[in-house]
Order: sequence, then structure tokens, then C-alpha cells
Amino acid sequence: MKLGIFGGTFDPVHYGHLILAETAREACQLDEVRFLPAYSPPHKQNQIITTGKQRVEMLEFATAGFPEFVVDQRELKREGTSYTVETLSEMTEQFPEAELHFLMGADSLIDLPNWRQPQRIASLAKIVAVNRENSSHEDLHQVVSNLPDSIQRSVIILEMPPIAISASDLRLRISEKRSIRFLTPRPVERYIQEHGLYRAL
Ligand code: ATP
Repeated sequence: MKLGIFGGTFDPVHYGHLILAETAREACQLDEVRFLPAYSPPHKQNQIITTGKQRVEMLEFATAGFPEFVVDQRELKREGTSYTVETLSEMTEQFPEAELHFLMGADSLIDLPNWRQPQRIASLAKIVAVNRENSSHEDLHQVVSNLPDSIQRSVIILEMPPIAISASDLRLRISEKRSIRFLTPRPVERYIQEHGLYRAL
């Protein structure tokens, strides 16, 4: 079994996330992609994030009808700071037969050496990376070549057309009463409106 693991804040989930997940599913022939909303991401600790329950509900709406996409709440249940290395160790025990693939955008890959035990992360899972809106495919290759060899060996780079969508841009747009149509699935957009999320930054 090939398992995709996609960690993030998902505050809120948007089409950049979904296209990344689908690109990886297809290219790496993943049987399943698990979306793991972080309880408290180490790099976003000073930011107020929407409750876990609301981020999960938005993820459930975004992935509904796609059986290969699963929302996994383990980091929310574990509470505390969400360290990827802990999550991957846990998943290795739970799915001993599975080949784990950890999905991320270029910004996360640049930051990976600063995460807890990056070498161990790279030994537990293949790191599947895509470029982001502000980075080209060539930049991504450059980022990879700057990583320690032990991490580089585990990286798979995927071609994806840059998708200029970020959760921070969505939050900014909402706070400025601007449109978020076509940036996230309609049910997520409706959920945000109904719950009055992100009206103040
Ligand atoms: P924020 O703008 O609040 O920082 P975000 O849009 O980057 O949020 P996260 O939940 O922090 O969303 O991202 C989870 C993962 O998805 C990260 O690895 C990030 O690089 C990746 N990602 C998010 N948006 C895109 C996108 N448009 N293209 C490619 N990767 C993306």
C-alpha cells in the first residue's frame, strides 16, 4: 500500500492543497492521501488558528465524495505541538506494510532542515515536493540540492503548474470582504460564510 500523508494547518483548505494532493496521488500512485490538520504547528505558534473542529469540518466538505482522500485527526487528538516525526513514527507502526509519502510545497521543503529530526523524517517517508506560486520548478531543484544528502535521497519532485492560492490570502480577502469564489470548493466557502470565519485578521 502506498500512503500519502499531507500535514498542514488547512486554515482554511483551498484548491492549492487539493491540486497538490491529487497531483501526488496520480504521480506516485497513492492508494490514499490522508490530510492531517495540525493541532499547533511549530512554525505558526504565534498565529491564532481556527479551531481544529472547524478546520476538520472544512476538510470533510472539501474531500467529500473522493474516497482516496481521508481526514485524519490524530494530531488534533494528540494535542500539543504537532511534530511530523512523531506522526510518521506512529503511522509506521499502524501501517507497517505501507510505503509512506509525505507531501509538501516548496516553502515547507525549504524549512524542513529546521524541523525536529529531519533525517528521521526522510527515513520514515518519501518526501514528495511541488513548487509553489512564488517558486519555479528550477528553484525547487535548487532547494533540494541544498539539502543534506540523506534527506535529498528521499525527495521526489513533482511537476505541478504553480497555483497562486494560499490560506493567508484567503483570510486576507475575507477580512477585506473580497471574493474567495473558485479558490476553495463551494461548500467550504459556504461554511466560512455561515460561521463568520476570518472576518477579522
Ligand atoms: P498559510 O498561507 O496560512 O501559510 P498555506 O496556504 O501555506 O497556509 P498550509 O496549511 O500551511 O497552507 O500548507 C500545508 C502544505 O500545503 C504546505 O506544505 C504548503 O507548502 C502546501 N501548499 C499550500 N498551498 C499550496 C499551493 N498553492 N501550492 C503548492 N503547495 C501548497
